[in-house]
Amino acid sequence: MDKSSISARIEDIRKKYGSDLVILGHHYQADEVVEHVDIVGDSLELARRIPDIEARNIVFCGVFFMAESASLLARPGQRVFLPDHSADCAMARMAKAEDVEKVLEKLAASGRKVVPLAYVNSSLAVKAVVGRFGGAVCTSSNAKVMLEWAFKQGDAVLFLPDRNLGRNTAKQLGIPAEQQVEIDAAGKKLDSEEARNARLLLWPGCCPIHEQLMKPEMVTEFHKHFPGCRVLVHPECSPEVVDICDGSGSTAFLIKEAEKAAAAGTEPALCIGTEFHLVHRLMERYADRINIIPLAQATCHDMEKVDEPSLLATLERLESGEGVVTVDEALKAPARESLMRMLENCR
Ligand code: SF4
Repeated sequence: MDKSSISARIEDIRKKYGSDLVILGHHYQADEVVEHVDIVGDSLELARRIPDIEARNIVFCGVFFMAESASLLARPGQRVFLPDHSADCAMARMAKAEDVEKVLEKLAASGRKVVPLAYVNSSLAVKAVVGRFGGAVCTSSNAKVMLEWAFKQGDAVLFLPDRNLGRNTAKQLGIPAEQQVEIDAAGKKLDSEEARNARLLLWPGCCPIHEQLMKPEMVTEFHKHFPGCRVLVHPECSPEVVDICDGSGSTAFLIKEAEKAAAAGTEPALCIGTEFHLVHRLMERYADRINIIPLAQATCHDMEKVDEPSLLATLERLESGEGVVTVDEALKAPARESLMRMLENCR
């Protein structure tokens, strides 16, 4: 089937299901997918919308951890589909629930109350472990609020899996670098004196797209070519990049800043450092008003796994229930607790 036939078929199925089908899509999805979604947003925006959705079928265009959270927050009888179950997040894979649990047990045995704070980019099994140890989930939009919350709950915080978001957020709260220690997944470094005294323990994880493909020299290069113009990046970038940029924030923040800059029309160029599908969409949307430039052409291959053909295949087999994302019953209550602590603290 050619592209236009696939596209038309998707729209026919959407019409057929009407209010019984809602398609959600993350901002990092390709345009060919975004044009079919009912709600586009970042992790926080999409998680917030789930409880209000009444449709029996929810198709989530994103990566696995997002669909798992959607499935957890869905109402009884609702079904959440992910068009490609191999669309995982490289960062989420860096924190395995069994490793996180062992580290937290070791920390609990030390007598210090260390509160876990899991970035939403983690598996549901990790969120459940975090919930059982009194911790919460955060997103890049609310990491600062949630890190402050976590510090108030105990003696120290274990931030996982993204060391960069952890360090960048800690800096905003004025936590000195010497009070932060990156640990290892086996928990061997926990025995060191610096880890025993640290206020913030960081899991050794990162987003390869933001950490490895966005470098400080790219920021310097942009500033050289466009003096006075801003570089704004996502806080999953390394602190070395964030520190020399003109601002950092969540996907929602980057979109808002691009919109404001386009409306003001006073900046000749604006450089944005995040996943390329989103930056490309902003470049096209505001092409007549501002020159938006990507810091790097960094695409997330997991996000790309959901495409029009896989979306269509999912829609065609909705009735069969094939492709439904299910959540282990034993994980539901503790994982929901960690997510609800975030939603309640960030109303
Ligand atoms: S861009 Fe990075 S954090 Fe986002 S889904 Fe891809 S690998 Fe995960």
